[in-house]
Amino acid sequence: MSKAILTLENVDTYYGKIHALKNISFTVGEGEIVTLIGSNGAGKTTTLKTISSLLKPAKGDVVYMGKKVNGLPPHLLTREGIAHVPEGRKIFPRLTVEENLEMGAFSLKDQGRIKHNKEYVFGLFPRLLERRKQKGGTLSGGEQQMLAMGRALMCDPKILLLDEPSMGLAPMMIQAVFNIIKKLRNEGMTILLVEQNAGKALKLANKGYVLQTGSIILAGTGEELLSNDMVRQAYLG
Ligand code: ATP
Repeated sequence: MSKAILTLENVDTYYGKIHALKNISFTVGEGEIVTLIGSNGAGKTTTLKTISSLLKPAKGDVVYMGKKVNGLPPHLLTREGIAHVPEGRKIFPRLTVEENLEMGAFSLKDQGRIKHNKEYVFGLFPRLLERRKQKGGTLSGGEQQMLAMGRALMCDPKILLLDEPSMGLAPMMIQAVFNIIKKLRNEGMTILLVEQNAGKALKLANKGYVLQTGSIILAGTGEELLSNDMVRQAYLG
């Protein structure tokens, strides 16, 4: 078992009276890809938002690198190495590709480090290098996803939270995004991946958790979940 980077311990999160997460517990080990799967409204996005402190759990703890972090401001968590790539990308449409990347490095002071990270991102995503002077809003959906991932990588993250990175993309772009996730894992990045594309996510994942109406109903290795009858029927259709 690799060292735990992130652990959720009996987490409950609400939106007003809506009980969105119920007693969620799981661990992400260093260098692992862990995936959360489940239907619309199961609580996947809420789980990521609770980890990055955009939502505060009513009960339970988020433990990152051995420290309880629930309740800390989100920008401090980014500085500590938790990078959240939100659903729908949320890039800055009026800024250029390069300026978007620089925004991702807001927590870094060292200009040399920022330059190094930009070169790393351009190496991973040559398409972004070609379009570095282009406004973010004029990129295709797949390119915007690459930009959102690239921007998250600018702050030297220890863990990437990816919310539906393949959503709304053409099949070739979906494959490109999954290839990048695989490459990042091979380079040692730890990734918590939320995906509706359960088959592709489970093929990559070390571990997976199935969420249903706010609870974890099933857990296993990627392979175990891929061959589980309930998962096959409900999510691999
Ligand atoms: P999707 O794939 O559709 O994004 P999800 O698994 O990510 O689904 P969440 O977005 O986490 O699901 O939603 C979990 C539950 O919380 C749902 O019942 C949803 O309606 C509710 N919810 C989400 N955001 C809010 C909000 N801002 N206010 C009130 N309820 C919300």
